[in-house]
Amino acid sequence: MRDGYSLICVGTSFASAFFLHRYLKTAGPDARVLVLERGQRLSQAEFLKAGWKLRDEGDRTFHNATKSKPWMYAPTFGGTSNLWFGNTPRMHPEDFECATKYGVASDWPLSYADLEPYYTEAERLMNVSGSDRTGPFQRSAPFPLPPHELSEPERWMEAAQPEHFFPCPTARASRPVPGQRSACCTSFRCNVCPVGAKFTVPNGLGELFADPRVRLEVGATVQRVVLEGGRVTGVEFARDGKPEEGKAELVALGANAIFNPFILLNSGIEHAALGRYLHEQVGWSMKVYLERGNAFGGSTSCTGHNYRLMYGEHRRERSAVLLETHSKPLLRIEPGRWRQLIRVTGVFEDIPHELSQVTVEPGEGSDEARPRVSFHGVSEYAKRGLDAFERDLGELLEGLPVERVESSVKRKTEGHIMGTARMGSDPTASVVDGDQVHHTYRNLLVLGGSSFPTGPVANPSLTIAALSLRSADRLLNPSRERARPATTGSAIP
Ligand SMILES: Cc1cc2nc3c(=O)[nH]c(=O)nc-3n(C[C@H](O)[C@H](O)[C@H](O)COP(=O)(O)OP(=O)(O)OC[C@H]3O[C@@H](n4cnc5c(N)ncnc54)[C@H](O)[C@@H]3O)c2cc1C
Repeated sequence: MRDGYSLICVGTSFASAFFLHRYLKTAGPDARVLVLERGQRLSQAEFLKAGWKLRDEGDRTFHNATKSKPWMYAPTFGGTSNLWFGNTPRMHPEDFECATKYGVASDWPLSYADLEPYYTEAERLMNVSGSDRTGPFQRSAPFPLPPHELSEPERWMEAAQPEHFFPCPTARASRPVPGQRSACCTSFRCNVCPVGAKFTVPNGLGELFADPRVRLEVGATVQRVVLEGGRVTGVEFARDGKPEEGKAELVALGANAIFNPFILLNSGIEHAALGRYLHEQVGWSMKVYLERGNAFGGSTSCTGHNYRLMYGEHRRERSAVLLETHSKPLLRIEPGRWRQLIRVTGVFEDIPHELSQVTVEPGEGSDEARPRVSFHGVSEYAKRGLDAFERDLGELLEGLPVERVESSVKRKTEGHIMGTARMGSDPTASVVDGDQVHHTYRNLLVLGGSSFPTGPVANPSLTIAALSLRSADRLLNPSRERARPATTGSAIP
């Protein structure tokens, strides 16, 4: 394109970077890409110093109308990949078809099989550590790195529940990756990894932004996409308070599930589902006191996953739960029994509600408009899952010599943001199709957790990465089979 770019990418985290990775592999030498990132590029030292302050900076960029419910993200080069924890489970195959299988929530317009090759590719790019035992997931390739070591109690659970209990797949490297990452130092500061063992966009895909076809602009905040004749012709953004415009044949928004819908709504795009169905999972931690055994000998922070209730018939009535087990030390204040205590966390799916939403709060004076976020609360379906948790733990903790279980905290957030530009094959009920292409503006991609029609228990970033790889692949290789039509989903109260 003479007067503009082939592609404008908004954001530099999972959604954009994995898309860009695949795009650059296929696009020719004349492709010209503009990447717009609102945050700054930080060195590893600056990042370690900033740490959680990045989250506070993220807070200032939108208005959270429900103060009791935080939404976290890091506005910086590499986005929240700098602050994530690094757990990378896949979604279960039945997560893609819960409406058809259990009459709950919505189906996705693609299947596990459609996404499987891209899961494998995303795991390869993140150098995920995981077990050879595949459990409930069909896999076309083993994990790139061996699994982390389990603690003694976790090994007992693994032995008692070989079908259900596995080392947690994680992008915190179990071995050094030459030239890229160190091995996990087991210091439990994973959100701000001190040794660069955790995958981040800067340490794993940073070379994309040095490609001669790519121009990266940091400190550039996109406010709108420009619409003309049923297409998107570019974006409007502000840098140092000055408005600028970039033109492109293709625009890919990867600004997360708060800012993607905001940019679309702020551009005048209207749709019944746009901005709605904001959701995430619910986490509940428990302290499990043991009669014997030594906890926290594992080689990373979150070491184990129990998939037993991640899927199955109980989902007709209550939410699925993924049990995480942790090696982070939690001392039992009892001489001689210091390590007879293990922390576990149940992660519960929730059903998105249309009144949990992102809207546009108009700017005052010289201030630009910004997103306003409100949350309607957790569904009855998730509450039934939470109510059953203490009972379900009996099954989930099989193999452990449990003395007693003590409720710890119900977490206010898992740090996941999903659902505000949901995907589907019915353009009246969804914003994007199964390839994350906008139903009306066919040269506009809306990437990331915003396209999730439901929020199953798996942490979302591996799926976000896999979807972005798939979107780019299918866009640039039109011969690939198009996304399958979705079956109609129904909501359950
Ligand atoms: C504390 C914490 C722990 C987490 N742990 C896990 C985990 O263990 N496993 C997991 O799977 N997920 C985890 N997550 C979630 C994970 O970080 C997100 O799913 C993921 O980062 C989403 O990727 P994204 O690219 O869609 O968005 P983001 O990472 O939020 O990136 C959005 C990017 O867009 C930029 N941007 C935003 N608005 C604009 C704009 N208007 N103009 C220009 N640029 C813009 C931002 O600066 C940023 O670079 C965690 C999150 C947090 C906060």
